[in-house]
Amino acid sequence: MKILVINCGSSSLKYQLFDMEKEEVMVKGLVERIGIEGSRLIQEVEGKDKFIIEKEMKDHTKAVSYVFEALTDKENGVINDLSEIDGVGHRFVHGGEKIAKSVIIDDEVKKAVKEYTKFAPLHNPANLMGLEACEKLLPNVKNVAVFDTAFHQTMPQENYLYGIDYKFYEKYSLRKYGFHGTSHKYITKRVSELLEKPQEKVNLVSCHLGNGSSLCAVKNGESIDTTMGLTPLEGLVMGTRSGDLDPTVVTFLMDNENMTTDEVNNELNKHSGVLGISGVSSDFRDLEEAQEKGNEKADAALKMFSNRVKKYLAGYMAEIENCDAIVFTGGIGENSITMREDIMKGFEQFGIKIDHDKNNVRGGEHVISTEDSSVKVMVVATNEELMIAKDTQNLI
Ligand code: ADP
Repeated sequence: MKILVINCGSSSLKYQLFDMEKEEVMVKGLVERIGIEGSRLIQEVEGKDKFIIEKEMKDHTKAVSYVFEALTDKENGVINDLSEIDGVGHRFVHGGEKIAKSVIIDDEVKKAVKEYTKFAPLHNPANLMGLEACEKLLPNVKNVAVFDTAFHQTMPQENYLYGIDYKFYEKYSLRKYGFHGTSHKYITKRVSELLEKPQEKVNLVSCHLGNGSSLCAVKNGESIDTTMGLTPLEGLVMGTRSGDLDPTVVTFLMDNENMTTDEVNNELNKHSGVLGISGVSSDFRDLEEAQEKGNEKADAALKMFSNRVKKYLAGYMAEIENCDAIVFTGGIGENSITMREDIMKGFEQFGIKIDHDKNNVRGGEHVISTEDSSVKVMVVATNEELMIAKDTQNLI
C-alpha cells in the first residue's frame, strides 16, 4: 500500500510518499512560494539528484498537480501512475472540540475545520486548499485528516479551562486545545513499544522541542495536559513565540505602542521568544555558538528556555504521578546535548540522573539516563509523517 502525506502551509506544501509494507519513505518534496513569484518544487529520492520544477504555481491545486507530475516523472519519479496511490493523509491543525481522532474527510469534518478557522486563521484554510486540490485531481482516492489538536482531546476540564468566566468557554469554546498532537502520539506509541509496556499503561512526559515547542503529560497512554493552548502561542518560550505572558503585556503594548490586535499577534508569534530576547537568531545552533562567545542575551534566552521546560516538566511529573519516562524529541530535543543537560540539572535531587556519555547522541532512539535513575530519560526521534501515514492506512 502507498500513502501520500501532505502538509500544507499558506504558501508551501511538504509531501512524502510512503511504502507502508516497509514503512519507508519513497520520496519527499517541498513546494515553496505557492501564489508568489518564483514558485518551485524540490523533490528528493534517495540515491538520485534533487529534482526541481520551477514553474508558476498560482494556487494549491496547481502545486498539487506538479507534485503528481514529479511523483510520476519517468526519470525522477517513483511511481508509474497515480492509481498506485491508495490514500492521502493530510496534516490538519485545528479540529477544536469536534474532532478527537484521525478521520476520513467528509462534509462534517470540513465544517469543523471551517468553524475552527477562527483560532487558526492561517493554517486551517491552507489545509483545506491542499485537501480540495487532492479531491479534484485524485477523485477516487480517500483523504484522511490528522489533526494537531486531536490527541489532546482527552485532557480533563480542569486542565483545559482557562481561569476566566465560564460563559466565554460556552460562548466561544475558548479553552486550551494543545498542538503537536501527532508527534506526542507517535512518541507515546513508540515508547510503549520500546519499554514493552501496553500503551494504555504508559505514563510519560513528551518534550517536543523544535522551532515550536510543547510538553505533553501522558497518563495511561492519553494526553492529560499540554503547554500550548487555544493557539500554539502559549507555554514554553519558543524560537519566535513568547510563550506564557501576563496578559496585561498585550493590553500595555496596544496602549503604549499603538498596536492593533494583528500587530500584537504578529509580534508575539514572529518576533518574540529566543529570537526577540537574544536579537541573534531563533535557531538554537546560532544561540549556542553566541553563548559560547560570551553573548549575554543569547545566554539569557537559552536559560529562559530551559527553565520554562523544567517548570512544566516537574509539574507534569507530579500530575501523572508514576512517570515511566521523560522523552526528548524535535530538532532541539533530539540534537542539543547541552540543552538536555541543562533541563535535567535540578532533577538529580529526585534521583533522576543523566549519563553524560549516553547523552552524547543526536537523533535515533536512546535511553540517556543512568542505570539507577528513578525515571528513564530518553531521546526518541519523532516521525509525524509516518504517524499520519499509519492513521491513514488504518482508516482506509
Ligand atoms: P520545526 O518545529 O520547524 O519542525 P525542528 O523540530 O526541526 O523544527 O527544530 C528546529 C530547531 O532544532 C532549530 O532551532 C535548530 O536550531 C534546532 N537544532 C537542530 N539541530 C541542532 C543541534 N545540533 N544543536 C542544537 N539545536 C539544533
